[in-house]
Amino acid sequence: MKPASNRAAPPRVLHAAAEVFPLVKTGGLADVVAALPPALERAGAETRLLLPGLPAIVDALEQQRAVCEIGPAFGAARVTLRRGQLPSSHLPAYVIDAPYLYRRGGGPYQDASGVDWPDNLQRFALLGWVAAHLAAGELDAAWAPDVLHAHDWHAALACAYMAAHPSGACRSVFTVHNLAYQGHFALADFALLGLPASFVAPSGLEFHGRLALMKAGLQFARRVTTVSPTHAREIATPEFGFGLDGVIRDRGADVSGILNGVDGKVWNPQHDPALVVNYGAEALAGKLQCKRALQREAGLEPRAEAPLFGLVSRLTAQKGVDLLLAALPALLGSGAQLLVLGSGDRALEAALQTAAHAHPGRVAARIGYDEALAHRLIAGSDVILVPSRFEPCGLTQLYGLRYGTLPLVRRVGGLADTVIDAGDAARATGFVFDAATPEALSDALLRAAGAFRGPEAWQTMMLRAMAQDFSWDAAAASYLALYAQAAAG
Ligand code: ADP
Repeated sequence: MKPASNRAAPPRVLHAAAEVFPLVKTGGLADVVAALPPALERAGAETRLLLPGLPAIVDALEQQRAVCEIGPAFGAARVTLRRGQLPSSHLPAYVIDAPYLYRRGGGPYQDASGVDWPDNLQRFALLGWVAAHLAAGELDAAWAPDVLHAHDWHAALACAYMAAHPSGACRSVFTVHNLAYQGHFALADFALLGLPASFVAPSGLEFHGRLALMKAGLQFARRVTTVSPTHAREIATPEFGFGLDGVIRDRGADVSGILNGVDGKVWNPQHDPALVVNYGAEALAGKLQCKRALQREAGLEPRAEAPLFGLVSRLTAQKGVDLLLAALPALLGSGAQLLVLGSGDRALEAALQTAAHAHPGRVAARIGYDEALAHRLIAGSDVILVPSRFEPCGLTQLYGLRYGTLPLVRRVGGLADTVIDAGDAARATGFVFDAATPEALSDALLRAAGAFRGPEAWQTMMLRAMAQDFSWDAAAASYLALYAQAAAG
């Protein structure tokens, strides 16, 4: 007779989020929502997604069928919960089909001109409400999760609706991907949410006379995570807490950090379809061909001996793009080249374009969002820059490591957890600087350009970088342990 197993059954997990790569992506959140659920599946969990019915999602889900009619809600006359599969991963996904709230052009949070949608409260209240009622077993007779995992302020209300729900069977986990975006709305609009009046207090959603939806996750989830161990400590401090550090400190040991991984199906130089030549640690020559092709494509001088620094990013103050512009004289003085791909702040976009015009062949800027160019840039550059003021995890430095493109990063958040400075010769994988100043960044740029001129030591660092293992499987194991804790109380 087989001995009885003590192991608990793997949990059923519902992820609620506003983005999923490649259908809707404004940043790293989409990459995480696409990669973590399949990793949880590989680890034995039964995982489903809940997504808002944005056109790119509703129109792409395969094998769709209606699960239930929710009826009118949050201003929408018709709301239907549908179930299908994500096209690439075949992961089961629910989508909230509510054309009045979701079927429109522009982005998931803003219209095409960058202005927040005026009904964002209703749009994301619906996401949270459906998540909680699905979790309570009321919307799909065939399935309910043991754990509801909500991501960022867009899905945070799910934790409040669950806390208000009498069933209490399912537990919630909330992940902060970026505390700077908190989902602020007028306090008077609390009435639209249908939550108990007690939830509008400072111990609930109220934040300096406004509503902050992020607080619904921070206050009501059983466990709170962010995307790196260092950032979990940082957000409990005034410097990185965006006014919510007190709330986070009050949660004590309920807050932890789990490092994001790299999706090897999407980011692998050995079979990346965006590259002119594939390469790996055993065949590094292809990387030089990628650099040549990138210099040609970007209009940079075709010089193999010039260190090529690349940056792929939202262009915001968070990402330290202004520091980079101020450090440009040092970069150019070292004989290096710069290629930036990004979009965002109009002033930063213009400043980058001005720099490119002033230094043709040395500096190039591609303003816009271009997934394939991001891959070519990360493969073809020698150094990937991430000079962020704060960085919960950061993904492009992880992609850089994988592609043998050494990261140059500021020592914050996930950057501090994933890159080891060249000063530690036996373990080095990149270049790390401390102060968020042009001088400190200039110093690091000069160190990197100098190191590039020592090809043997550089190659040793490249190979060490490429051997780092930031897998989603490790992250999934940590999340499973956390779900077990959340379920236990
Ligand atoms: P954040 O989520 O703060 O924007 P991350 O580093 O966590 O930063 O994730 C950013 C993701 O978005 C990466 O996958 C990066 O390659 C991608 N990305 C950012 N800007 C662009 C762009 N202009 N074109 C293509 N991809 C981009």
